[in-house]
Amino acid sequence: MVIHLFTIMKRFPRWHAIGVAALTFVMLSVAMWPAPSQSVIVELPPQVVIPAPSPEIPEEPQFTRVAEEVQPGDTLSTVFERANAGVRVLYRMLAIEEISTPLERIYPGQSFEFEFDADNLLRSVTFSESILVKHRISLTDDGFDIEKVVREPEIHTRFAEATIDSSLYLSAKEAGLSDNMIMQMATLYGWDIDFALDIRAGDTFSLIYQEEYLDGEKLGDGPILVARFVNQGREVNALRYTDEGGRTDYYSPNGDSMRKAFLRTPMDVFRISSSFNPNRRHPVLNTIRAHKGTDYAAPTGTPIKVTGDGKVVSAGRNGGYGNVVVVQHGGGIRTLYAHMSQFSKNARAGNRVRQGQIIGYVGATGQVTGPHLHYEFLVHGVHKNPQTVDLPTAQPLDRQFLPQFEEFASNMMGQLQVFEETYVAAD
Ligand SMILES: [Zn+2]
Repeated sequence: MVIHLFTIMKRFPRWHAIGVAALTFVMLSVAMWPAPSQSVIVELPPQVVIPAPSPEIPEEPQFTRVAEEVQPGDTLSTVFERANAGVRVLYRMLAIEEISTPLERIYPGQSFEFEFDADNLLRSVTFSESILVKHRISLTDDGFDIEKVVREPEIHTRFAEATIDSSLYLSAKEAGLSDNMIMQMATLYGWDIDFALDIRAGDTFSLIYQEEYLDGEKLGDGPILVARFVNQGREVNALRYTDEGGRTDYYSPNGDSMRKAFLRTPMDVFRISSSFNPNRRHPVLNTIRAHKGTDYAAPTGTPIKVTGDGKVVSAGRNGGYGNVVVVQHGGGIRTLYAHMSQFSKNARAGNRVRQGQIIGYVGATGQVTGPHLHYEFLVHGVHKNPQTVDLPTAQPLDRQFLPQFEEFASNMMGQLQVFEETYVAAD
């Protein structure tokens, strides 16, 4: 257990002398104890004999603890009133900036614990801002002691790898990745690989990533540290790096940003059911016509994302396109999204839109046989295949950081390779 304890005020009651770690342990244990009772019952194995308390040692003061969870619509006053702590003490507390700042906003799910002494006087209030951050305010003879306790989760570094047989999602699941981690991977590679159309059986991926644990329980996923994706024989490597200027981003091993000015896919890849063959016979006109875009089959109502920053040129009904939105981007690039069931509120002519914003929803308006998104990518009026067009990259790594980065990159890629060569998947 790693604990950082910050004490804002210098004056402590004497019992603080028992040591920071012990105190913190007690405090955190306190938070887990059940509702107040006359004595604390500790379950012990039957063979342990509990010695009778020796008469010389004065009894510990009996504290009563009241836990209150923040409910929707709660204010600090309603929480303090529910705990019978009184609001006068609250106002005295809020006059002190170190106390009022963390209490400025409270949210449902956060919790308070009030501690009362035998005379029913409030002795302390512990505010659990999150599972990791607690503020304890103790009432003293001449004011308050304030402590902030920050627990740090344990970071576990993990490795996973898979060969895709049918779907990226299922292969990733089988490799032990959470939904969150799969989305992180899809986002990380969303600029380079169209997960809806490009994935083939035999594609492989491997990654080193982090998970956060607290008291042996998983809190959540940390970031991906390094990843390799081999798509149809093309290897795409990505590394997470924080430069000395404090900027964190994902880069290829040569220092290019993984981010591009355009997403490859205008939808969450896992919502796309299939894609159409672009050289197919047109299902309505029953003729083969030059198909100028990419079609993504997805259920009606699936959100459509604008693939790059830009400005909406038009949003409205237009013949065979049905409900269609056209967006102008920098560099003479336009994107077009057709057959929508509905527009989003972002889809108004003249509106600025940002990459990834929802611009509308999949539908079957216009000349179609079923719900799908028809997506076009035009450079100076010429249609380009959005899957293969060379996309401008976002900001690369600052050149001054390149030497450190290259060392870091070769180290991380080396680690990934060692894992790939030695890892045997658990059954
Ligand atoms: Zn189409």
